[in-house]
Amino acid sequence: MKKLYPLLIALLSMPLMKAQTDLKIYDIINSVSAERIENDVTTLVNFGTRHTLSDTVSQTRGIGAARRWIKSEFEKISSECNDCLEVFYQKNLIPKGDNARIVNDVWVVNVVAIQKGTKFPNRYIIMSGDIDSRVSDPTNYTSDSPGANDNASGMAGTIEAARVLSKYQFESSVIYVGLSGEEQGLYGGKGLAEYAKEKGWDIIGILNNDMIGNITGVDGVVSNRDFRIFSEPVPPTETEQERRARRFYGGEVDGISRQLARYVYKTTKTYMPEMNPMMIYRLDRFGRGGHHRPFNDAGFAGIRIMEAHENYTQQHQDIRVEDGIAYGDVLEHVNFGYAKKLTAVNAINLASLAWAPPAPETVEIGGIVEPNAKLRWSKVDGAVGYKIYWRDTTSPTWDHARYVGDVNEFVLEGIVLDNYFFGVAAVGKDGHESPVVFPNKVFR
Ligand SMILES: [Zn+2]
Repeated sequence: MKKLYPLLIALLSMPLMKAQTDLKIYDIINSVSAERIENDVTTLVNFGTRHTLSDTVSQTRGIGAARRWIKSEFEKISSECNDCLEVFYQKNLIPKGDNARIVNDVWVVNVVAIQKGTKFPNRYIIMSGDIDSRVSDPTNYTSDSPGANDNASGMAGTIEAARVLSKYQFESSVIYVGLSGEEQGLYGGKGLAEYAKEKGWDIIGILNNDMIGNITGVDGVVSNRDFRIFSEPVPPTETEQERRARRFYGGEVDGISRQLARYVYKTTKTYMPEMNPMMIYRLDRFGRGGHHRPFNDAGFAGIRIMEAHENYTQQHQDIRVEDGIAYGDVLEHVNFGYAKKLTAVNAINLASLAWAPPAPETVEIGGIVEPNAKLRWSKVDGAVGYKIYWRDTTSPTWDHARYVGDVNEFVLEGIVLDNYFFGVAAVGKDGHESPVVFPNKVFR
């Protein structure tokens, strides 16, 4: 028995023998509170309307009161973590007539809370929800517009994630943000994406939460397990040269937002196996929009996380009863246990990405007319090793992986380049991984 100890110690100290999961992630899941989310959604609903053009002076009604409350909540969280959050308004003045929904000059004001990373303060992973709400007429800024699910649920989830994650320290920065002007034309996201560009933020991606509380679909399907991850295939900012290269080297379904979607899918499957994440291969719902899009437009990775079964009678509706149907986005329709689950999905992905090293900047692939695929990549600060992923060309997920240690090139014996897609991720000391990088160079 005694002789076993040195062997055990040797085994435990090998990085490869470490558990594939980080117990801190389970603690994060368990710390998310449905009750606090319910309280926050209720508070937001009680501002009467949060329409972007609504009252900003009242202390009890309108978007001004709502954003001041959100800011004070972030400040309260910060005061309980040694001022770990930097809280501020980021705003842009939108002139009357900018589009048909801007019927007055209006300041679109986002509430931003930044938890600075200890090692990579200029690298950011973002979680967003929306402050604003609307009824049937998008220019009606006075009627009651509770927006309980759309999108007090996403906003409350974002505040709750800040509460939970502020108890931890991360190597990269985490941003929790309430965006405004969504219903008027995605103005808040556009404003913050421009601000990020000006400041030179290195953005890992944005997890945009828009409607994370409804479990009863208009089609009658009820599920508190299913949720959707929307991601566009390739960035709209790609060059003509990149577009042409895709014909020969692939990458049609491997843009940066899609890799972020796969990351969220995998983390959820690993740590919350009761959930059923659905990767949807499109920017957003058919012909509809969300606040991740302005980030995509700016060249950043961004996805939309939301319920799987929507109820259209409870979105963007005047509160009324018509033909026996109760219309309106009211508090009673929000399932807080489900909102808690989707908040946890966000929190564990924010944590995992903020604990992980940066992704390799360049990944080169070779092995044309050879029996083996070859990969080489640029090393990153903070990685203990690298993992090569590959998958059948028809598979949506990275089904095969090989951890190859702290090297910058590897030959996959017997794996023919033509038959798979490949990528490389950096692995940190607690096993947290960067998103997978699809090869961006070819070598012979
Ligand atoms: Zn909406």
